[in-house]
Amino acid sequence: MSNKIKDKITELREELRLHNYNYYVLDNATITDFDFDIKLKELQTLEQENPQYFDATSPTQRVGGQITKNFKTVVHKNRMYSLDNSYSIEDLNDWEKRIQKNLGTQNTEYTCELKYDGASINLSYENGKLLSAVTRGDGFQGDDVTENIKTIKSIPLQLKGDFIDAFEIRGEIILPLDGFNKMNEKRIKNNEEPYRNPRNTASGSLKLQDSAEVAKRPLDCLLYHVVGNKLPFSTHYETLEKARQVGFKIPKAIQMCKNIDEVFKFINYWDVERHNLPYETDGVVIKVNNLHQQEELGFTAKAPRWAIAYKFKTEQVSTVLNKITYQVGRTGAITPVANLAPVQLAGTTVKRASLHNADQIQKLDIRENDTVFVEKGGEIIPKVVGVDFSKRPVDSVPTNYATNCPDCNTQLVRKEGDAKHYCPNEFGCPTQITGRIQHFISRKAMNIDGLGAETVELLFKEGLIHNYADLYELREEQIIPLERMAEKSAKNIVEGIENSKKVPFEKVLFALGIRFVGETVAKKLAKHYKSIDNLMTATFENLISVDEIGERIAQSIVDFSTDLSTIQYIERLKKYGLQLELSAESQANQTDKLQGKVFVVSGVFHKMSRNELKKAIEDNGGKVSSSISKKTSYLIAGEKMGPSKRTKAEALEVPIISEDDFLEMLA
Ligand code: AMP
Ligand code: ZN
Repeated sequence: MSNKIKDKITELREELRLHNYNYYVLDNATITDFDFDIKLKELQTLEQENPQYFDATSPTQRVGGQITKNFKTVVHKNRMYSLDNSYSIEDLNDWEKRIQKNLGTQNTEYTCELKYDGASINLSYENGKLLSAVTRGDGFQGDDVTENIKTIKSIPLQLKGDFIDAFEIRGEIILPLDGFNKMNEKRIKNNEEPYRNPRNTASGSLKLQDSAEVAKRPLDCLLYHVVGNKLPFSTHYETLEKARQVGFKIPKAIQMCKNIDEVFKFINYWDVERHNLPYETDGVVIKVNNLHQQEELGFTAKAPRWAIAYKFKTEQVSTVLNKITYQVGRTGAITPVANLAPVQLAGTTVKRASLHNADQIQKLDIRENDTVFVEKGGEIIPKVVGVDFSKRPVDSVPTNYATNCPDCNTQLVRKEGDAKHYCPNEFGCPTQITGRIQHFISRKAMNIDGLGAETVELLFKEGLIHNYADLYELREEQIIPLERMAEKSAKNIVEGIENSKKVPFEKVLFALGIRFVGETVAKKLAKHYKSIDNLMTATFENLISVDEIGERIAQSIVDFSTDLSTIQYIERLKKYGLQLELSAESQANQTDKLQGKVFVVSGVFHKMSRNELKKAIEDNGGKVSSSISKKTSYLIAGEKMGPSKRTKAEALEVPIISEDDFLEMLA
């Protein structure tokens, strides 16, 4: 008896899975909606009556209903890099030259894909089942949005046929234009503000708390990259083909190209043809096809060397510039903003555009009431690129750049060599104060859950916080009476703040908002100085002696360290128990053993992955470089190392060592 039920459940699941696949992946319906719903109901009933057969990958799991309050942060097993951009044929030719020089061969082949404009996602599978889905986040860690992702019907919860036992696959969650427009029609009818564009709406959907809401949105997922240490394939193209066979939606517009000319053809074709696609694309991604070559090329600090994005030329429109206004950022930098007569540009309504700085306005002679040309560049914010002088009104007057801060009215300053004007009222200018606190709590910094940018403004306005140190003295009773707050949200805020005391030193250092100290520099400084005390007592000379720390950064740190307010805040943060030095464990794994040594790593290794090897080099004070030169101290040679690397190393008398030799060096 029970076996019969089990069989029925299995049969229904398989059948529904196939219909889903046919409809959502192949775009070829094989059942009416009505019949599909009947079968789904039947399966739901059987599953409810027989909970022992629960399966997280059953098609019934796609309707959603789970509520996620706080998305769990998950560290990516393999970092999610970004892509370098190119804008012209010359850029691509240069890229090809670079990689061919690096590989020591002219023998390179490419895969071209479109660059889908959405939100990236990392899907993990094991034994054919979807395990988890994590957003890109900062590339090192993202949010676990598995429950929401499961509602996207084109993502297989269970693969068809054999693939790899355990792997990750990356893709882009997109909102097709048709679905996006329908959502907006509804919103307009309900007197709600329409969504700005498909990409933001797609990425916002991933973080909705109610997965049933996500299920209602017509999201789709296009896959483009399988990640695994030892893939049983030799090319990227073949990997994608195989992935398609087991049920992933890999768009048809991928093509293998024998040389860069074929790449140009692909680009030219799709530059026009893309307007006929049901979703938005913003370029082409070109990838070295051979996986060995990919490994050989590796990554820069931000992006793979083996791939590059080509951005399609942007559309341009003209419209009237009504007014120039000014904004202050958290560092006091002033940005002029063009307030435009609303105009449609690349599928969105544009009302504001960036004017960069005073020089730009002067150079282009941009004035209020001018008709200007607006373009959408790589950034989200469109920019004004020129003036239509034939339409300039007769009573037009040249623009006088702001002299005072739009927020606190302090007179602006402009330092030699700086393109921007600054409001010097660092500790009195409201926008700078809240901006600094907002930066402090942001994801990549202290990552304080429960506290958002608006809440910071509210807390500041109510006089509860004046700087980031004040956060640590906030009490629930103070927050509860505020507008839009309740016990629950107050508790979340205080808890989130408390939890941030565990955030590691390098992130705290970044959070402090020292001008020019971004994430990467913060990491460098944390590693070198090991504690805030060491850093703050370092002299200018000492700072610039640190690798990659220039005069601009050094001066900014000295300014920061000698500022009386800053010193006070830091003392307080110490008292509250924030991590203001490297933890013992991260110090334990770090030495200076390889100080001053430059390594090139090439080939395939056995005891460590190539990335682990590189990390070991850096943790011990060494540097990793991608190509061999006179400065190279050692070439660590693995299996299948390119012959050109060996020849070059020998020619320059660079010692070639094995993985074991290297480990001995560390021991
Ligand atoms: P960017 O955000 O401009 O640095 O571009 C990198 C992003 O492009 C990646 O994180 C992916 O999410 C996205 N992307 C879209 N289509 C592709 C594709 N075919 N191959 C690789 N990345 C892609
Ligand atoms: Zn100001």
